[in-house]
Amino acid sequence: MAYEVKVEKITKSKLDTIDFNNVQFGRVFSDHMLMADYYDGQWNDIKIMPYQKIPMAPATAALHYGQEIFEGIKAFRHDNGEAYIFRPRENWIRMKHSAHRMCMPEVPEDLFIEGIKQLVALDKAWIPALEGSSMYIRPFMIAMDEVVGIKPSDTYKFMIITSPVNAYYAEPIKVRVEEHYSRAARGGTGFVKNAGNYGLSLYPAMIAQKKGYKQLLWTDSAEHKYFEESGTMNIFFVIGDTIVTPPTDGTILEGVTRDSVIVLLRDKGYIVEERDISVDEVLEAYREGNLREAFGTGTAAVIAQITAIGYQDDDLNLPDIAQASISSYLMKALDEIRRGHAPDKHNWMVKV
Ligand SMILES: *Cc1c(COP(=O)(O)O)cnc(C)c1O
Repeated sequence: MAYEVKVEKITKSKLDTIDFNNVQFGRVFSDHMLMADYYDGQWNDIKIMPYQKIPMAPATAALHYGQEIFEGIKAFRHDNGEAYIFRPRENWIRMKHSAHRMCMPEVPEDLFIEGIKQLVALDKAWIPALEGSSMYIRPFMIAMDEVVGIKPSDTYKFMIITSPVNAYYAEPIKVRVEEHYSRAARGGTGFVKNAGNYGLSLYPAMIAQKKGYKQLLWTDSAEHKYFEESGTMNIFFVIGDTIVTPPTDGTILEGVTRDSVIVLLRDKGYIVEERDISVDEVLEAYREGNLREAFGTGTAAVIAQITAIGYQDDDLNLPDIAQASISSYLMKALDEIRRGHAPDKHNWMVKV
C-alpha cells in the first residue's frame, strides 16, 4: 500500500486459551488490531499492534455526539488453509458514504483493504475452520477532538479489530412487526452504519424480546405501513414465485449480503423485486396461503430463516423451514462460495 504500516507483534498469543467451539459472537478478539490517526488533513501513524485498550480524554468528541461509523465483514478459511475475505470493497464504498453523511474523512481504499488483508494475514490462525464459523472483521472510525461542542471533529481514529465467530442465529427466528417506534426517517441516517442508529433500537428490540421474539421488523416511520428491515438484517419475503425486498432509498442499510442474495437469485432465474412492500400485502399473501418464506440477510447472521412474524396480537406462522427451499438454497450457495467449494463467478472472494 501507499502507506507505511508499522507492525508490533504480540509477545505471546492468546490463541491457546480460546475454545473455538464455544466463542460467543463479538466477545473474543484476535491478537492484533490496526490503528491510524487522522490529523493535519491526512491519515498518519498507521500501525498494527497487539489488541489493547486505547487512552481517551473524557471530552473525546465520539463519546458525546455520536460521530462514529463502522463496518462488518467476514473472512473464511479454505480447506487448503488459505484465508479469503468476502467483498471488502463493497464495505469500503459503504463506509465512504457513511463518512460523507457524518462529516468524517474518507478512509482511502488501500488503507482499508490492504489494512484488513495485513491484519487477517497476521491473525490467520484465529479464523476457525469449523462449519459455519468465520472471522468477523470490524473496521470503525471515531471522532477524537477533545471538545464538548457540536461540530465536526478535526481528528479521528480509524481502527480494525477482528473476532472469531460461530453461526449468529443457529436456529430459525421469530420477528415482530414494529408499529410504534421508528429506526430511521426520510432524510435521516438509515442508510449509514453509524452508532446512533443502534442505540435507539435497543429499547423497542427489548420489548419485542420480552414478548418472545428474537428481533423486530421495522416499518416506515411516516405511516408504519411498509417494511424496512430487521435488526442488523435486510428482509426478504417469498410471495408465490416472487421474491420481494424493500428498496434502498435512504432509510435502510444497503446490505452487501442483500446485494449478494439478489445476484445469486437472479443467476438462478428467480424474479426478485426491489420495491415497497406493505404489511397489508404480506398479511393478504399469508391469508391466501401465498407467503412461502421470509428471511433476513446480513454479514453477522448471513441468512436468518424466519418461522413466525408477530403482528399485533397474532403470529403469522410460516410453512415448515424444511420446505423453505429458497432461503435454504441461499445459505448453501453462499457458504459454498465462501469456503471455496463452489466457483466464485462474481469474484467476491479476496485472497489474503
Ligand atoms: C450491517 C447491517 C445490515 C446488513 O448489511 P451487510 O452488509 O449485509 O452486513 C442490515 N441492516 C442494518 C441496520 C445493518 O446495520
